[in-house]
Amino acid sequence: IKPKVAIVGRPNVGKSTLFNRIIGKRKAIVLDTPGITRDRNYGTADWNGRTFDVIDTGGMDFEPSDFNSEINSQVNEALKEANVIIFLVDSNSGITKQDDQIAKLVRNEKKKLILAVNKADNDVERLSAYEFYGLGLGEPMSISATHGTGVGDLLDRITKML
Ligand code: GDP
Ligand code: MG
Repeated sequence: IKPKVAIVGRPNVGKSTLFNRIIGKRKAIVLDTPGITRDRNYGTADWNGRTFDVIDTGGMDFEPSDFNSEINSQVNEALKEANVIIFLVDSNSGITKQDDQIAKLVRNEKKKLILAVNKADNDVERLSAYEFYGLGLGEPMSISATHGTGVGDLLDRITKML
């Protein structure tokens, strides 16, 4: 059985962009998991001779009013099934209430976790990643899912954790 890596985060931080960059040209499989209200994209990735499944937990966007229950079920499902969690945040927005809520869900889990600060497209945005130490989840890694910057380092770190 292949190890699973799940990408969690609030809407619009770049989960699907990162997912697509990691799986590359391979096709995503969309699974409608029973009991979960949103579709999940599954894909396979190879890096450093390791093969693993990647899960984009975002599915579709949802109304802000649904956020609490929606994000809870997505994050809890990811915690159940994944070996490694990538918690993705947005360098441009700082820590939001939604980020804090997700941090609360994952902080006390023993699950292996990587905090990745996306949209760090330039040096100024890469510096703003330090702010995310405030989530209490250790060192944030800055990446740019659209440019690909830092994604190789992220994958190195993932394969070391598997
Ligand atoms: P999701 O809702 O978390 O799946 O986020 P998406 O992958 O749909 O991305 C939301 C928006 O952020 C889109 O307009 C993306 O093009 C943009 N985006 C994603 N990654 C980056 C990045 O690294 N840099 C910048 N500048 N924009 C990004
Ligand atoms: Mg998405």
